[in-house]
Amino acid sequence: MRSDVGKRMTTATARSASAESVAGQCVCGAVKIEIEIPARWAWHDHSRASRLAHGAAYATYVGSWRRRFRVTKGATKVTRFKDEATGTTRSFCASCGTPLVYERARSAHMVNIPRALFEGRTGREPRYHIAIDQLQDWTYRGETLVPLKGFPGVVWERPRQKKRARPRASDPMF
Ligand SMILES: [Zn+2]
Repeated sequence: MRSDVGKRMTTATARSASAESVAGQCVCGAVKIEIEIPARWAWHDHSRASRLAHGAAYATYVGSWRRRFRVTKGATKVTRFKDEATGTTRSFCASCGTPLVYERARSAHMVNIPRALFEGRTGREPRYHIAIDQLQDWTYRGETLVPLKGFPGVVWERPRQKKRARPRASDPMF
């Protein structure tokens, strides 16, 4: 896979000092995109449709004005799924399945791109939540985690005990 994200960012920056961009890509690298920054807004989407489309607890999107969004590589690899019932369209990479763009009929001038596609800053923090009533109880919400003995690199949330566990000097929680 050829990696030219850095080169594209340099090109975008050189294009105009007033139109700084951030680049993103799918997991296989066939499709590359960019938006001018700062993005319009950023938000967490807890709705069922986005949960299924991403195969994840929720999706975090960066909203961009459509005219400030570009596919810089692999446009022919972009496949679209239109949900007629909701008027939404989801684009994804035909090679690797990475979700790329989420469009909503009632916001025709906006495109929403998964925040995770961008490794650089987008100029917006995701402070907004949509469908928070659909937050899943298995989503990680910052619970205290400790190393799992015998499994380097794995941490876990210790189950709550009825009796308060006695602190030990070797226990990283204490
Ligand atoms: Zn791909």
